[in-house]
Amino acid sequence: MSELRETLRRELPGLEEAVPLAPLCTYGVGGPAQYLYRAAMTDTLVHAVATARDLAVPLTVLGRMTNVLVADEGLPGLVVLARNEAQRLDGELLTVGAGAELPAVVADLAEGGLAGLEYAGNIPGSVGGAVVGNAGAYGRSVGDVLVTTRLLDDGRVRDAGPEELEFGYRTSLLKRRHDVVVLEATFALAHGERGALLAEIARDAELRRTKHPLEYGSCGSYFKNPSRELPAAKLIEEAGLKGLTVGRAQVSTKHANFLVALPGAKATDVLALSDEVKRRVLEQSGVELAEEVRRLGFDAGGDPA
Ligand SMILES: Cc1cc2nc3c(=O)[nH]c(=O)nc-3n(C[C@H](O)[C@H](O)[C@H](O)COP(=O)(O)OP(=O)(O)OC[C@H]3O[C@@H](n4cnc5c(N)ncnc54)[C@H](O)[C@@H]3O)c2cc1C
Repeated sequence: MSELRETLRRELPGLEEAVPLAPLCTYGVGGPAQYLYRAAMTDTLVHAVATARDLAVPLTVLGRMTNVLVADEGLPGLVVLARNEAQRLDGELLTVGAGAELPAVVADLAEGGLAGLEYAGNIPGSVGGAVVGNAGAYGRSVGDVLVTTRLLDDGRVRDAGPEELEFGYRTSLLKRRHDVVVLEATFALAHGERGALLAEIARDAELRRTKHPLEYGSCGSYFKNPSRELPAAKLIEEAGLKGLTVGRAQVSTKHANFLVALPGAKATDVLALSDEVKRRVLEQSGVELAEEVRRLGFDAGGDPA
């Protein structure tokens, strides 16, 4: 056993090796992680990141893998999945671990008559991932109700407020700073009516079932909307690209901004399809689409901010 492997196994009990990532991500494509560690507590998340840093091992911190496209070759080094889910409620302030699943958190809040995140009740993924990408729907985003977030930044645990995080439409400072890890987030909620909150979440779920191709692998909307008036789906549809298929990746016939993985798709199929969509939309409308998804493990130009 190599010294590095031995140290990783000693420091990170439960460390797994050569773990296929496709079954763990909503795209359902991509190769294995060389090493994978599920950090069940904030302390173990901090320790895993520090260990990778000390050993100079390539590190990728992920949440629920709903907004990533992993290369077919997989990821070298250590993949850490945030699974710290502890919550504490202090009046109307909720502090929650980055690894908690956002829909579960929002459902609990609605049950308890707490409002502020109900529009995010069907956004898959973790709280940490939602903070990084400022996840949202219907013109509202998690950054709107975030009070503070606990970060691991350059080996130091510190708190940062929304003003520092530079929230924008589906973005934040953290989308460009992959070295910073979200450990916890605190949201300011307000009293709401339980029945109305649960009904809003259920309505949204039904709308998503009607509009989104949930039967296939995807990362949700693949491209950012250039503006609210100009959704990416409209541009793709107007370029006549619905149903366009490259390998086993397809522009959904149901929602043009979903580039779905048909059974047997490879990550390279999705990448080739997205390049083709970008090329044709630019040609047709002069608009350059930008990815919302984070591409991981691709060599050239693989990581749009
Ligand atoms: C069917 C479907 C529908 C969707 N609908 C919406 C929608 O309506 N609105 C919306 O905004 N999004 C939507 N998405 C996209 C996705 O749900 C969000 O982007 C989600 O917030 C990603 O969270 P995650 O935990 O899965 O992040 P991951 O995919 O695991 O990671 C995404 C990025 O965040 C980083 N990251 C994750 N956790 C941490 C952490 N703790 N510390 C530091 N960095 C971290 C990763 O390194 C990566 O760069 C949809 C996706 C799907 C599949």
